[in-house]
Amino acid sequence: MSRSPISQPARIAPLAVLPVFYRLSGKPVLVIGATQGAVWKAELLASTGAHVTVIAPQAEAPLAELCAREGVHVGHLARAWNESDLASAVLIVADVSDDEEAQRLASLARKAGTPVNIVDRPDFCDFQFGSIVNRSPLVVGISTSGAVPVFGQAIRARIEMLLPAGFQKWAEAARNWRPLVQARGLSLHARRAVWERFVAAAFRKPDHVPDEKDRTAFLASIEQEAQAPGLGSVTLVGAGPGDPELLTLKAVRALQAADVILHDDLVSPEVLDFARREAERIITGKRGHRPSCKQDDINALMVTLAREGKRVVRLKGGDPLIFGRAGEEIAACRAAGVPIQVIPGITAASGAAASLEVSLTHRDHARRLQYITAHAKNGKLPDDLDWKALADPAATSAIYMGKLVVGEVSSNLLATGMAPDTPAIIVEYATHARERRFHTTIAAMASVFAANELDGPCIILFGWAMSEAAP
Ligand code: SAH
Repeated sequence: MSRSPISQPARIAPLAVLPVFYRLSGKPVLVIGATQGAVWKAELLASTGAHVTVIAPQAEAPLAELCAREGVHVGHLARAWNESDLASAVLIVADVSDDEEAQRLASLARKAGTPVNIVDRPDFCDFQFGSIVNRSPLVVGISTSGAVPVFGQAIRARIEMLLPAGFQKWAEAARNWRPLVQARGLSLHARRAVWERFVAAAFRKPDHVPDEKDRTAFLASIEQEAQAPGLGSVTLVGAGPGDPELLTLKAVRALQAADVILHDDLVSPEVLDFARREAERIITGKRGHRPSCKQDDINALMVTLAREGKRVVRLKGGDPLIFGRAGEEIAACRAAGVPIQVIPGITAASGAAASLEVSLTHRDHARRLQYITAHAKNGKLPDDLDWKALADPAATSAIYMGKLVVGEVSSNLLATGMAPDTPAIIVEYATHARERRFHTTIAAMASVFAANELDGPCIILFGWAMSEAAP
């Protein structure tokens, strides 16, 4: 049985609210009340260019000052609000202290079809104001969905520190230069390439105000893309054994630049969280003893996507260069003339050893480390394994894909003369939150699988170096 490589997992976990950035310039907005909070909201709304009407029987000095400020559209109607006010605005913000009034206002606004926010009454709010980091036109909004605004404010302070003030100028430049890209009629892919170079420049010189020289360089990169549109590429990326913190910086960067990600089941969702949201994700589901796509189909898909100009990330559990069929994928790309790059990852054996706080090599116990697959092309134990090498008491061996053949491995080791009490450790889901570790011996290791339901990926480490592992 084979499975189509085209299956689409969810790209995003559930969201409590949708962060959208609403253009309000020139649009009518209503503020009800003239409390300090209401006046602040009027000022905030007016900063977007909205035309704000404040309705309140009485106004204090701060509102009068705001109404008089130049370049700001805020007007005041000195009366109580009524139902007919509500339909004329695109948004309503109200600061009312009375429960009954809040309730009436919220339900009438909904009836009028106008989203409403009643200050400090989350139950009556269709939308909330997040904390804002302002590098306009670059704007960051932070929301805790009303759960704990103080947390949002603290996070805002962090982001303020992280985000260079100069990014405002770069974002402004981007807004001004955008028509230059549009005018050149570039493909989607070429446009993206141009903007990526722009972003790289902004990160290189965050505090520099983009000038004529930068504009010239920008134009040159547009020309370059117009004349030689970027060829796609394939990057083989190691996802590590599970814990997302074990990703390399390069892997994260590749994930964030990907157009398409082809990954197998072994890659954990926490790792995929680092990927660019817009990236298409395709599960290629290669997993021993389960239906999976054929390697040839994967190779063909990878090459086709890259030829369409896409940046393809082939994401693999652990290190792609260890039992990851990277050789075949590299060969397929080379044959097709598709540029390929490899970003190594932490292999399962290293992840498991780290969890066990044990060294895979040891001056007293192991001068050699061997990675073995117990899974031949036909799914059985390979018949050409070097049992003498495996039974070497001065080596550490890491068996990948060994679950189904562990009994045979055990009896072959014993038959080759390896001491039955040689320590063996089985680690399931190494470095994941649900990691499990089983200390055993080469003679007894099959019984661990028999006694426990080990559904996850398991690595078997054996040799005298394992005697030093944390219990
Ligand atoms: N390229 C991967 C190995 C792929 S082969 C790497 O470098 O780790 C798949 C096998 O790797 C599984 O059958 C299992 O034996 C092992 N494996 C992968 N991830 C694992 C994990 N988190 N814990 C234990 N074993 C794992």
